[in-house]
Amino acid sequence: MKKTFKKKYIYFFGEGKAEGSAKMKNLLGGKGANLAEMTNLGIPVPPGFTITTEICSYYYQHNKSYPEGFYENVKKYLNRLEKVMGKKFGDENNPLLVSVRSGAPISMPGMMDTILNLGLTDESVKGLAKLTKNERFAYDSYRRFIQMFGNVVLKVKHEKFEEILSEKKKEKNVKFDIELDVEDLKDIICKYKELIKKETGTELPQSAFEQLKMAINAVFESWNNERAIIYRKLNNIPDDLGTAVNVQAMVFGNMGENSGTGVCFTRDPSTGKKVFYGEFLQNAQGEDVVAGIRTPLKLEELKKIMPKVYNQLYRIAQKLEKHYRDMQDMEFTIQEGKLYLLQTRTGKRTARAAVKIAVDMVKEKLITKEEAILRVSPQSLDQLLHPTIDPSFKEAPIAKGLAASPGAASGKVVFTAEEAIKQAESGERVILVRKETSPEDVGGMHASQGILTSTGGLTSHAAVVGRGMGKPCVVGCQDILVYEDKKEFHVNGKIIKEGDIITINGSTGEVFLGKAPLIEPELTPEFKTLLRWADSVRKLKVRANADTPHDAETALKFGAEGIGLCRTEHMFFAKDRLPIMQEMILADNSEERKKALDKLLPLQQKDFYEIFKVMKGYPVTIRLLDPPLHEFLPKTEAEIKELAQKLNIPEKKIKDKVTALHEFNPMLGFRGCRLGIVYPEITQMQTRAIFKAACQLKKEGKKVLPEIMVPLVGNVEEIKRQKEIIDKVAKEVMEEEGVKLKYSVGTMIEVPRAALTADKIAEIAEFFSFGTNDLTQMTFGFSRDDVGRFLPQYLKEGILKSDPFQKLDTEGVGLLMEIGVQKGRKVRKDLKIGICGEHGGEPDSVEFCHRIGLDYVSCSPFRIPIARMALAHAQLKELKEKKSKKRRKKK
Ligand code: PEP
Ligand code: MG
Repeated sequence: MKKTFKKKYIYFFGEGKAEGSAKMKNLLGGKGANLAEMTNLGIPVPPGFTITTEICSYYYQHNKSYPEGFYENVKKYLNRLEKVMGKKFGDENNPLLVSVRSGAPISMPGMMDTILNLGLTDESVKGLAKLTKNERFAYDSYRRFIQMFGNVVLKVKHEKFEEILSEKKKEKNVKFDIELDVEDLKDIICKYKELIKKETGTELPQSAFEQLKMAINAVFESWNNERAIIYRKLNNIPDDLGTAVNVQAMVFGNMGENSGTGVCFTRDPSTGKKVFYGEFLQNAQGEDVVAGIRTPLKLEELKKIMPKVYNQLYRIAQKLEKHYRDMQDMEFTIQEGKLYLLQTRTGKRTARAAVKIAVDMVKEKLITKEEAILRVSPQSLDQLLHPTIDPSFKEAPIAKGLAASPGAASGKVVFTAEEAIKQAESGERVILVRKETSPEDVGGMHASQGILTSTGGLTSHAAVVGRGMGKPCVVGCQDILVYEDKKEFHVNGKIIKEGDIITINGSTGEVFLGKAPLIEPELTPEFKTLLRWADSVRKLKVRANADTPHDAETALKFGAEGIGLCRTEHMFFAKDRLPIMQEMILADNSEERKKALDKLLPLQQKDFYEIFKVMKGYPVTIRLLDPPLHEFLPKTEAEIKELAQKLNIPEKKIKDKVTALHEFNPMLGFRGCRLGIVYPEITQMQTRAIFKAACQLKKEGKKVLPEIMVPLVGNVEEIKRQKEIIDKVAKEVMEEEGVKLKYSVGTMIEVPRAALTADKIAEIAEFFSFGTNDLTQMTFGFSRDDVGRFLPQYLKEGILKSDPFQKLDTEGVGLLMEIGVQKGRKVRKDLKIGICGEHGGEPDSVEFCHRIGLDYVSCSPFRIPIARMALAHAQLKELKEKKSKKRRKKK
């Protein structure tokens, strides 16, 4: 039984005052809400009506059906549209044509379906021809309609229509559609209809209203097509938002040379520069620009061809940007010299552009600093930290296209999205090369390092999606001929096959053969400004995980306020250290071990000295030796032989030691503080090295603040005993050197038991640092190193929403952290607490750290800017929540 639906669910726009407004995005979708808003701003918009997203939800909740009286209601609005337009739907004399478009609350460009020229039938096409006195135009519109309707609504493959069209062009020996005459088009229409009959067993509907019913259905259905589902997953868009349907009177950009269609941006979406930017095609319909089939003209050309229209468009663009206080991306059509805006939306942009636009708009007093911060997603900053090609690289490019999305990338050439996904899953870095991309390729684009296409402009699908994903992207590279079937592309006589390596530069449009050397990025002045604003907002400090002076320097450059984790074992893997380390491990007794450690002491001391020096008095957390010892021992016969010769000991001794150190679960074995407890001389040597280096700097008049961190503590006795050793050696060294230093001793919280007994541990430990890599490993019981065997399936089946080693599992691991914080601070009020697992640079995890009251996050140097922004976002979000809570309370 059909239910009645009481609420209003169709909204008119385009005439007088619209029934909707920009505030109604959730109900009308972005497109519908903005069409209503433009109407209210007095901007020329072709009239039409929006069917709300609530009907989409209804459709899916009620077995794909509509509320009672739905079609009557649609008819009512259609009649109103007919009146406004002075035309009749499906009429053989004066037909009204409409477009039927999707429009979700959050923009999903190109993911859902659109049908243009709807309302054309064998009869009404004649009316259109008479009315426009342009028979060719009428039949071309009909041809386009059948192709779109056939594909989108009746599900006949797009290629089959293209084949018929290509056949005709071949037969007539012409290159472009525009060169086909009326008779050709009529013939194509006949063939299209036959194709539909053959493929679907039904005729093309000859009732305009029947077409409309089917098109509305198809748009609602497209909400759940595969590419839309993938897009929502990639962009964290909820599945239950639904799409609206916009039914809008058609205006025609293909009515001759004084007509055209295009897209424009109020600022450059690639660089963020304040220039009026866009592309258009003369005598064309909307999809021609986006599909990238004909290469469009720059907007400046429009200024020359139709200066009045250009000026009007410019004024409207400025008005819209001011009104929405953000960069706008607009679609327009010019019908015989008259301009219409078909859409405006907040423009998608590269991270670089987002930063520049946000900072510029604060300077232009359009937005506040806080708004500017919130306009730039922390994760997107990753794009700004992408490598570029080393300028010393002087090879000539093999081709040049349009620079569509910045950054450089190298990888093996692949020609299909499926192959890109397959190769990426097996760990290959690939560049997806295609003639043009379509929404079906989104998964493959995501899996690639970069995208290269031979056709299309800066607003083509590849360019828009590439920018959104932050993937380097070169489009419209006409120098290359892509043969997807042969899995090769040709460029100036060269043949590049699948698997060959190329490098693309999405900032210049250049394509190189082979792997070019890449260099790390620099921060732009706007980026620095924005980060400064973020710093003034955030509450938590940001430190770096850095093991070398070079890392420490990079970290400082990116704004680190200390080192949160210096993994000392990395220093032992260096070529000059490893044999000494191995000598220490192979020692038979404590005496021998000490001897080897004595050799390591000056080397460690030098490492620490340099790192302290770079860090200029910022806190430096040095973690004592952590990994299982067998990691340092040789593995192959040849390595064992070489080491035996170097140390002048029998090979057997090494083999025996390797056997003795074998463990079934090394990550749960003889590692972390267990090493320092069984071999206290290791802790003694490392502490000595730290304090010798620190005293030396102090004597040189430099500031230094060491923090010594004990790994893998799960029991207060472990930290207690290690701290005794550390304090004793520290005292000795300070006395020897005649220097007094401030220092602290703390622990990693990375074993669940440590979190659960944090109150006991805090009696000894002066600071905590959550080692969420191990804490995740031990909380889930997932081996950090072997999780790849089953995690992909867990994610696919939805057992886990995300990889817990990347994004903190706030429910489980997070709960342990909360317990750790609470219990720790109960005993030691001013306990300093940080995080140094990989999660310390992941925005959502960083927000969680803010919420549970940590003092700092520590992450790899290149993620520091992301952490700085994420912390500012977390703080601004918290303030907003507090404000709205207060408001609610008052009410
Ligand atoms: C951790 O476990 O989170 C950590 C930072 O230490 P590591 O990754 O070195 O085990
Ligand atoms: Mg660890």
